[in-house]
Amino acid sequence: MNDTIVLKFGGSSVADNEKLKVVADKIINMYNKNNNIVVILSAQGKMTDKLISEAKELAKDVEKREMDALVSCGEQMSAAKLSILLNSLGYKAISLTGWQAGIYTNNTNENAIIQNINTERILKELEKKHIVIITGFQGINENMDITTFGRGGSDTSAVAVAAALNAKNCYIFSDVDGVYTADPNKIKNSKKLSALSYEEMLEISSEGAKVLHNRCIEIGEKFKIPIITKSTFNNKPGTVISDIIEENTIKSIIKKDLSRVSIVGNGIIRNIDAMKSVLDIIDKNKLDMLEFDVSESKISVTFKNVVDDEILEEIQSKLLEDEKQYLNV
Ligand code: ADP
Ligand code: ASP
Ligand code: MG
Repeated sequence: MNDTIVLKFGGSSVADNEKLKVVADKIINMYNKNNNIVVILSAQGKMTDKLISEAKELAKDVEKREMDALVSCGEQMSAAKLSILLNSLGYKAISLTGWQAGIYTNNTNENAIIQNINTERILKELEKKHIVIITGFQGINENMDITTFGRGGSDTSAVAVAAALNAKNCYIFSDVDGVYTADPNKIKNSKKLSALSYEEMLEISSEGAKVLHNRCIEIGEKFKIPIITKSTFNNKPGTVISDIIEENTIKSIIKKDLSRVSIVGNGIIRNIDAMKSVLDIIDKNKLDMLEFDVSESKISVTFKNVVDDEILEEIQSKLLEDEKQYLNV
């Protein structure tokens, strides 16, 4: 069998028909290089938000089972549309819902955990050289009820399917072309990183950077699937997340809940200079600190008040100026 690669496209990448055409081109390009292609899709644009708020207009307390039944439709729409488009372009594609693709979960609606993937149907379609398009963010439980994985959960569908198929790579395509030293849409001087370890990425996601869903990184690490984040809209090199660990680097600054700032990098606990620089910036800006926590790969500071993005910019330019070799500028 050829190499199997998994490609996941997020909501902003499939927001309208024009963007679906860009996505279809990317898929065709990789299919023509003789790969088996499995695509995981998110719902289009803000569709999930729209479905949730419409449900809340109908009832104050929406049953979780019914909310899952509703929001899972967003991904079903985008998957079917992409399949219609690819077929019209002459490429045989098939859309599968989570349950048709054999994705079995526990019974926790709205935050289900994947327990097992029966790959029989996916493999059957791949043998026929079909492009397999699977709805992200959803599976089925033992009662045959639809479950979803929590916001951003399509990343987890992608890495879990990649692990079940023993895929060569799992590409996560989005509106940013990789993982940056901080959120590039908020923090001005952010730079793209070329590589990160699973552990570092897990810290970054747990501290609230929504670029990847937490659970997908745990699965990637467990099954040793390299996760490559790239842009749907350009061909620039992205960020590779794998088990390669670089000692003593600083990778990322994250703000969580407006008043907690974390700095992530493997071995940061031994970086006295970095700790001193952070404390100097806190002191200089007269910030009221409630807690200062250090672990193997993370410094976290909780403040009394909301922290301005300018403080993150200052920490970033101070701490990351020596890290140019890891940046993908
Ligand atoms: P998708 O809809 O494709 O799943 P998301 O919106 O979930 O994409 O994730 C991409 C967003 O993550 C970016 O638009 C960016 O604002 C945000 N983000 C937060 N922190 C980072 C970071 N360190 N690097 C890159 N993007 C980040
Ligand atoms: N559509 C879901 C969400 O908006 C899942 C995803 O896009 O990953 O959270
Ligand atoms: Mg996402």
